[in-house]
Amino acid sequence: MKLSKLASEIAESPTFALNEEARLLRERGEAVINLGIGEPKNKTPISAILASAAKLTSGEVKYTPPDGLPSMKKAVIRYTEENYDRLVAPENVSITNGAKQSLFNTLYSILNPQDEVIVIAPYWVSYNEMIKMCMGIPVVVTPEDGTFTPRFEDIERAVTSSTRAIIVNSPNNPSGAIYPPELIEKLVGMCEKKGLFMICDDIYHKLTFDHNVAVPAYHFTKRDIENSHIIVVNGVAKLYGMTGFRIGWVIAPRDLTRVMSNVLAQTTSCVSPVAQAAAEGALNGLQSVVEALRLQIQNNRDVVLQEMRTFNGVRLIPPAGTFYALPDIRAFSNNSVEVSRFLLKKALVVTVPGKEFGMEGHIRISFAGSVKDVTEGIARIKWALDPTSPNEIYIGDKKMIRDWM
Ligand code: PMP
Repeated sequence: MKLSKLASEIAESPTFALNEEARLLRERGEAVINLGIGEPKNKTPISAILASAAKLTSGEVKYTPPDGLPSMKKAVIRYTEENYDRLVAPENVSITNGAKQSLFNTLYSILNPQDEVIVIAPYWVSYNEMIKMCMGIPVVVTPEDGTFTPRFEDIERAVTSSTRAIIVNSPNNPSGAIYPPELIEKLVGMCEKKGLFMICDDIYHKLTFDHNVAVPAYHFTKRDIENSHIIVVNGVAKLYGMTGFRIGWVIAPRDLTRVMSNVLAQTTSCVSPVAQAAAEGALNGLQSVVEALRLQIQNNRDVVLQEMRTFNGVRLIPPAGTFYALPDIRAFSNNSVEVSRFLLKKALVVTVPGKEFGMEGHIRISFAGSVKDVTEGIARIKWALDPTSPNEIYIGDKKMIRDWM
């Protein structure tokens, strides 16, 4: 069978693949703990349920404008004003099927073949694959060993005459790092000077801990939105735990929004109005749901830090945001794929190999789930890897004995 070379070369999403593996194991009755997927456990906020139910019961579920319902755009405009201190117009907003489609459409709309996009390691798994799908070339900048924050000079050095954009994801998946405001400021300056787009993937921007804040890139420009090189991507998946509704959005100059709107019209037509109504409900509803989720996740993060402290050999930079930790496991092995496989086989815990994020020697642990899963999951990892931990453990109702060291 002859298939597209470009499409065939796109890597499988490791997180979705691991999630499926965990599901199959659980179906077989195994006591699997999934610390792989980044998905909060909360129920959909009531305001989102009511708004989408009202849309559904109206029976008026039809196509919407490709770039989104005017009322949904209005909710995003208000959100942007409140959280970014920026007043944008409806012509600057496009609503998409998740932040994933926002990012893809952005890249598709700005890149020509062989254009380069700078990606900072550790990076979210989909960036490089999306850039390649758009015929671009990802150029990865890796921070110094032992840190998750890149040096501005290293980023600047990676810029060539083919560079079109840089993707900045802070708070960062998978490390939980928040880049310092000075770095964001320098990046804004660099992008303006060199005419590069700065794509800010802000999907975790309110999930921050200990009074850390992710300062928006907009704060460092005097330019208006039409002349600014900043593109903001956000969505309801992580902040409201509404991953299944698939709603994201892009704030961009109107020329770019117009092109993206055509891309939307010719591909997915629009986002389901039921899902848009849900997101609108969430954005216009009580915002204490976000704070409640943040507090629960911060508590989980504290549990991770506490459990990790007694873990011999593992180094962890405390996550300042998101719901991920990226411990350095090189004391046990340099091969994160093998470690993740081993942990799933022996301890029935799903983790994601750091190699997938451009950070070999680390594994990503998601603490978006319940405290019980996080505590038990880390105890199992400790049992499997750390020879100084007790060599017996209960996994489900089975007593397991460590016999490999
Ligand atoms: N960006 C980052 C950094 C993410 O972690 C994710 C989800 N894992 C997304 C974008 C995509 O979010 P959505 O579910 O809205 O497509």
